Amino acid sequence: MSMNRPEPMVQTVTGPISPDDLGRTLMHEHLTVGWPGAESHTTVVRRSRADVVAVCVDRISELQDLGYSTLVDPCPNDLGRDVSLLVEVSEATGFNIICATGLYKESEGGHAYWSFKARYEDVTAVMAEMFESELTDGVGGSGARPGILKVATGLGDMTDHERRVFDAAATVSVATGTPITTHTDGGTLGDLQQAVLTDAGVPAQRIIVGHSCGTTDADYHEGIAAGGSYLGFDRFGITALQPDTDRVAALAELIRRGYGDRVVVSHDSVWCWQGEPFPARSMDRLGELFDPTRFDREIIPMLLEAGVDDSEIEALVVDNPRRFFTGDLLPVG
Ligand SMILES: [Zn+2]
Repeated sequence: MSMNRPEPMVQTVTGPISPDDLGRTLMHEHLTVGWPGAESHTTVVRRSRADVVAVCVDRISELQDLGYSTLVDPCPNDLGRDVSLLVEVSEATGFNIICATGLYKESEGGHAYWSFKARYEDVTAVMAEMFESELTDGVGGSGARPGILKVATGLGDMTDHERRVFDAAATVSVATGTPITTHTDGGTLGDLQQAVLTDAGVPAQRIIVGHSCGTTDADYHEGIAAGGSYLGFDRFGITALQPDTDRVAALAELIRRGYGDRVVVSHDSVWCWQGEPFPARSMDRLGELFDPTRFDREIIPMLLEAGVDDSEIEALVVDNPRRFFTGDLLPVG
């Protein structure tokens, strides 16, 4: 009688693969993003689909030149998620793309819809049903299945709407074994996110607290790491929020404290915006600012300078993403 556990698999938009085959992985980039309402700005000239695909294929080939083979695009359902674009670009490049199911923070997501609906019924159950349906049967008619759940908080406190999303995602994560990645603002509330999810039964090692590089507070970082979850240092290059020197120093400190096995890295770069969220004159420059090759070109030399060694850097882009998707327990304490 065989008692072997089934081998863990990761769902990419083109089908399941073994975590061992992820290779170098960026854990938080976006092919496209559109805030709810982008479609209402009707005077913005829309890029053709062929143009959007070409921009994404170019970006991916730059990443392939650096040895990457996988990225996670954790766009939630209400932030312009375009799964068929991800499928098309993945098929054109052979690059693994993992998409998400989930909902964004109240202040910038699809809250208007869900709060209206919440007047009449228990929307937590509706959200959970939707997440599970997408994970099991695929998104819309695309057949593509998400490989991760996405939840988010803004500044201040977790709102009632955000709490419903967390409760729904936790239920579905426990039921399906799907891991979770989060959005935080300003490097805050990650500890609360971890507590809410683990209290609901989600294993700590199945959680990435995203945008943790939004603060340099080493004790905040250590608290989440010691609780057995992953931290996303995933906004390299977004210097409008914070200089990269701060992110590098905080990451080096976390590694020095012994938690280099539970950090993943990325840029939160957006390659094609829907609508025109920034002034028209600056839209053309966004490609330089949101550059997913920055970690290799600029950040690795800074980490080496800060005393982080090559194998510790390799862990951030290979071993840690693989272990996260495999679901192996992280030592706690
Ligand atoms: Zn993002």
